[in-house]
Amino acid sequence: MKQFKLKLSTQLIITLAIAAAAYGINLLNLPLFFGVNVLLGQSLAILLTLQWRGPWGLIAGTLAGFATWSLWGHPWAVIIFALEQLAIYYWVNLRRSTSHSREDGSVILVDMIYWLLIGMPLVWIFYSGILHMDSANVGVVAIKQAINGVINSAIGFLLYLSLRLLLLKLNGKKYQGTTTHGISVRSMIFALVFTCISLPTLANTIFSAHQVSESTQGGIVDTLSLITNSIERDLSNQGNGVATGTGTDTDTDTDTDTGATNTQESPSSPTPHQAFAQKINYQITKTDGSKFSSSPALFESLGNNYKASDKQFITVPNLNILITKKKVPLLKKWINGYWTLESKWPNQANSPYKSIQVVMPARETVIRMQHLSTEILYSLAAVIGIGVVIAELLSRSFQAQFSLLIAPFLSESEAISKQPVGLPLLRMSAITEFSTLASLVNERILRTNNLTRELQASNEELANSRDQLALLSTTDDLTGCLNRRKLDEILEQELARGSRTGEPLCCVTFDIDYFKQINDTHGHLGGDEVLRAVAQQAKQRLRSTDYLCRFGGDEFVVILPACPLNDALNVMEALRQSIDNTIHNLNGSNCKVSISVGVTLADYKLDNGTSLLKRSDDALFKAKQNGRNRIIHQSIAG
Ligand code: GH3
Ligand code: MG
Repeated sequence: MKQFKLKLSTQLIITLAIAAAAYGINLLNLPLFFGVNVLLGQSLAILLTLQWRGPWGLIAGTLAGFATWSLWGHPWAVIIFALEQLAIYYWVNLRRSTSHSREDGSVILVDMIYWLLIGMPLVWIFYSGILHMDSANVGVVAIKQAINGVINSAIGFLLYLSLRLLLLKLNGKKYQGTTTHGISVRSMIFALVFTCISLPTLANTIFSAHQVSESTQGGIVDTLSLITNSIERDLSNQGNGVATGTGTDTDTDTDTDTGATNTQESPSSPTPHQAFAQKINYQITKTDGSKFSSSPALFESLGNNYKASDKQFITVPNLNILITKKKVPLLKKWINGYWTLESKWPNQANSPYKSIQVVMPARETVIRMQHLSTEILYSLAAVIGIGVVIAELLSRSFQAQFSLLIAPFLSESEAISKQPVGLPLLRMSAITEFSTLASLVNERILRTNNLTRELQASNEELANSRDQLALLSTTDDLTGCLNRRKLDEILEQELARGSRTGEPLCCVTFDIDYFKQINDTHGHLGGDEVLRAVAQQAKQRLRSTDYLCRFGGDEFVVILPACPLNDALNVMEALRQSIDNTIHNLNGSNCKVSISVGVTLADYKLDNGTSLLKRSDDALFKAKQNGRNRIIHQSIAG
């Protein structure tokens, strides 16, 4: 290689520059699926070894390996990758005498042998014996590191061939008359075939893995926000009662052991969403700064022993993962981590809550992702392994024919050195083998795509149930009226609108008289039926622009926008009479109920939602005091 002989110091500088570049590439942001973050980084080191044969690739590769130290939290990967460079260095220098020793692709085969005989057993010893990772994960890591290693050497080799071609073009004249300093036809065929086989598959692998990662993580976000909504709804429905608790209140709606929030009391088997929800814990921050959580011990441990990951593998916005601060391999950190989503409590007047954080163990999803990506990588490994063999066979077969074709461009000695020979039978079998392999790979990729589609479908299903939950969170299950949470929102909105347009706004509170007796006489279910019937009668009397809310128990609030006081009194009087005249049939026995009503007109200058509600409630109180089954109007003046 005399035309490339550089001074030692220059070689050292180039080596260091390449080591720095390889270090940078080692930090490339690849999907979590690959689990190993060293893809491509070592390729530049292999390029150095092939180009100069000296110890430069070994030095650059070892330095670049240090990037993985900080990433993985342990030095073992540095040793494994440095030994890989040593094996390649040894092979290239051992075969110094052979003319095309570096151009026949044997470096990839040697690398495969290194990973099988040394690399993978070392992963086993370090990860399982020293770091005590469980064997399933060690297997996954070993396979992925081996595949990464072989891809590194394949890409390093292709880089080397490209560099040779480039130099050949730049210094073409220097090579005239030599046979050893150019690039052989066979190497070119090898490179071409190998590139065609392996690079598209590599790109496809990264793309599929990224897609699966995105869908899975999207599903997690959907689940977490679904749970957030349902917790918000339950707490809002319970009023402020829970606010003083630490998540250990005895209400049947909140299962405090698991932090799950069940919307039904039914003991029937949980739906898939509920099953998911049971693994989820939450912590609520209140406006006064205090916190309460479904599992205080868990959140204390998360606060002390976990930190947010740097999000580098997370493809979905808003999602984060909490990983342990302990010095353990990255994969182990992920597997023992927690998905987390923090959302602000919706803006509501007087709400004691500020934000809610929902966490869920990451283990299941991460392991699933690992399995999926390992399957994808198996097919990549098959393509690389068989690709090397096929490329080698084809280049041997065609070398002689191509030599003749390009003979006019080559030196004499090169052109006459080869005679065309008959195509060996082996070529046919190699081509057949390749087409079988290609269809296998296609099948695998199709499976991955189907899986992605399935994941998307289940994400859609989750989105639908989220919409349903959103609806539920504004209405009351029993009567279908709006709930108290929605009432606060409507009051603010209608007061603002009324003061803008100047139209009168009335607020009414009514409550069923002696409702406890109905429950006592006809049972709770009978009481429920009366509640539904009264709500139905009220809905029929009101305009479509009025709002009917169940305030709690047997008390209802009506908001009548653009309605003068007299109209409100008339509507409510008609409703009172119609309720008074209705006979309910509850399980064969008849019963009657009446309502007491408080009515008031909003004063846009002095009123806010709270004062308006209070005044109509005061009027209701007077109606009860004055004998019930009547309407009392209260003006702001009293
Ligand atoms: P008053 O005339 O003073 O209003 O007397 P009351 O008996 O109606 O007293 P109050 O309004 O305070 O009682 C409401 C009762 O409604 C208390 C509670 O047991 C019952 N209740 C609350 N929610 C429900 C429900 O969803 N279904 C049924 N059936 N009863 C309920
Ligand atoms: Mg009542």
